[in-house]
Amino acid sequence: MKQLVLAGGGHAHVRVLAALAARPLPGVEVTLVTPQPTQWYSGMVPGVIAGRYAPEDAQIDLAALAHRAGVRLVLDAVAALRPEARQLRLAGGNDLAYDALSLDTGGELARDLIDGAREHALFVRPLHSFVQLWPRLQSLAARQPGLQVVVIGGGAAGFELALAMRRALVAQARVTLVAGNAGLLPGFPRGLRHRALAALKSRAVTVIADDAVEIKPGQLRLSGGSRLPCDAPVLALGVQPPAWVADSGLRLASDGFIATGATLQSVSHPEVFAVGDVSRRIDAPHPRSGVYAVRAGPVLTANLRAWAAGQALQPYRPQRFALALLSCADGTALASWGPLFAHGAWVGRWKDRIDRAFVESFREGVQGTSLLAR
Ligand SMILES: Cc1cc2nc3c(=O)[nH]c(=O)nc-3n(C[C@H](O)[C@H](O)[C@H](O)COP(=O)(O)OP(=O)(O)OC[C@H]3O[C@@H](n4cnc5c(N)ncnc54)[C@H](O)[C@@H]3O)c2cc1C
Repeated sequence: MKQLVLAGGGHAHVRVLAALAARPLPGVEVTLVTPQPTQWYSGMVPGVIAGRYAPEDAQIDLAALAHRAGVRLVLDAVAALRPEARQLRLAGGNDLAYDALSLDTGGELARDLIDGAREHALFVRPLHSFVQLWPRLQSLAARQPGLQVVVIGGGAAGFELALAMRRALVAQARVTLVAGNAGLLPGFPRGLRHRALAALKSRAVTVIADDAVEIKPGQLRLSGGSRLPCDAPVLALGVQPPAWVADSGLRLASDGFIATGATLQSVSHPEVFAVGDVSRRIDAPHPRSGVYAVRAGPVLTANLRAWAAGQALQPYRPQRFALALLSCADGTALASWGPLFAHGAWVGRWKDRIDRAFVESFREGVQGTSLLAR
């Protein structure tokens, strides 16, 4: 039997697992390595924080999915990779050999980008730790009226989480969004950025276009030198490559992520596939978002089947624009697609339908994945 190891239960791998549940891979023993038996669906996490979704609405049961797919489940994490030996070292100390390896482990939040963050901040990734710690912040806010919550990061996650926290904590806390020097939602259409700013202002979320450089108990320092009162810093910055990737021996892109080509294989080690936030398509760079990882899933599945059968692999052509749907935590959402954008309750209902359909599609007895997913 050939050994295929899927590392990480990210957005592409859940689609691979669902496809294997529908049609197994003959002659291949498949193993899934994941630190958690469930995968939080990030698109619904702000809704969980806002109290609009129950935690189970936003989770995919990886253990059940692996079971249905006939895939061996190893609850552990990749700690090191030795591609010359075709071997993974797991955090628990065991080694795992493979003939082909597929990596969909996502990125990590840098703990030391801002002085004092490691000691004092709440990090939004890993999502399971963040969601687990969130009730503690809620009870702190209940005990300490006027608590200063500062969300750091002006991207989609920071925007959605600032509004979600504002909604959940209502009058108990003040919420500030430190969006960074590039301002709120850089890269999004100008009209959408105005609407997003208006949404934050209307809910009394203060927005600061500056970088946070230091966090101390009760205080946050900005690059311009000013200081903000801050009892609960929440870090929602972009992701960095996981530490083990740097020493993996795989060729890396200039930003340190795993360099892949059109067929989703490592450009240096063709038996290693990498998708989603842990990778960088060097032939067709695209932004990091769940959309691209989800869309890579079917091509990855086809290529893993082709690898097993010794057939030619097919290219994944990332879409030019990805649909972004940002929840405003009040039932409305903002949509953007390339230069176009919209805002309203209908966008909120649209996002809700897409997100629920995506998570639902992995439950037992439900066929297929919403084509609209992300
Ligand atoms: C709050 C929030 C909201 C977001 N909303 C959206 C949105 O609406 N739309 C959108 O497109 N993007 C959104 N994003 C971005 C999106 O979450 C990421 O781009 C996406 O999750 C990347 O998918 P992935 O498959 O690469 O990895 P992930 O979804 O991060 O999954 C990686 C998996 O690998 C596991 N793993 C991690 N390390 C290891 C290891 N060493 N060994 C084994 N397994 C490991 C993790 O436990 C996890 O299950 C949001 C992000 C956040 C933080």
